[in-house]
Amino acid sequence: MIELTDRQEKILEIVKENAPITGENIAEKLDVTRAALRSDLAVLTMSGFLEAKPRVGYTYRTEGVESKIKRILNRYRVKDIQSLPVVIKETYSIYDAIVLLFVEDTGSIFVVNDENYLSGVVSRKDFLKTTLGNADIHKVPVSVIMTRMPNIITTTADETIVDAIRKVVEHEIDSLPVVKCFISDDGDEKYEVVGKITKTTFARLFLDLACTKHEEV
Ligand code: ADP
Repeated sequence: MIELTDRQEKILEIVKENAPITGENIAEKLDVTRAALRSDLAVLTMSGFLEAKPRVGYTYRTEGVESKIKRILNRYRVKDIQSLPVVIKETYSIYDAIVLLFVEDTGSIFVVNDENYLSGVVSRKDFLKTTLGNADIHKVPVSVIMTRMPNIITTTADETIVDAIRKVVEHEIDSLPVVKCFISDDGDEKYEVVGKITKTTFARLFLDLACTKHEEV
């Protein structure tokens, strides 16, 4: 993003209200000479704010679709769209975790240790893999099959959703735990799970935006 000077902002306002308008007319409204405005007009034209049409004057360039989408998405933080996480202890049996998956109608479950800090994630595929083997799912705890820390990809409430979506896409996973980080006395990072975001969360946001009236965005 380029920082505009007060005068450049004023020029944009004038063009928005009076377009098409010549350089001379803009200079008149600002009570300066046309020459004094030359560099400001060059900056505004080159950076795409204004369009200079020969024999017509300056017009305001309306925002392109891509930059509008970018601007809207960058307004949202994870905390605006996160939902409640489904969390279990490491000692839960695989069987109980699968039951919970159905009861909570979720695709992945976050696992916490005795101190209630994040220690792993189990997803549908992890459960399916186990059922292909001979493990006694009533006895074996989820900690045996989960993906463990420090390999868990996390997000925080203040992260932009664009950064969060990028993590989901790059790591080919369905969900991210939203965490609060604590530093323990021995200097280790520990994570409390405070929420979750999933591909569905993102899909819902896109649907909400698509159903929002133009004037509101
Ligand atoms: P599914 O099993 O339904 O395809 P995922 O694509 O989310 O769900 O999971 C694929 C693998 O990635 C699983 O082994 C799971 O344990 C692991 N996984 C899921 N979420 C995360 C995460 N946030 N960080 C690291 N690994 C994850």
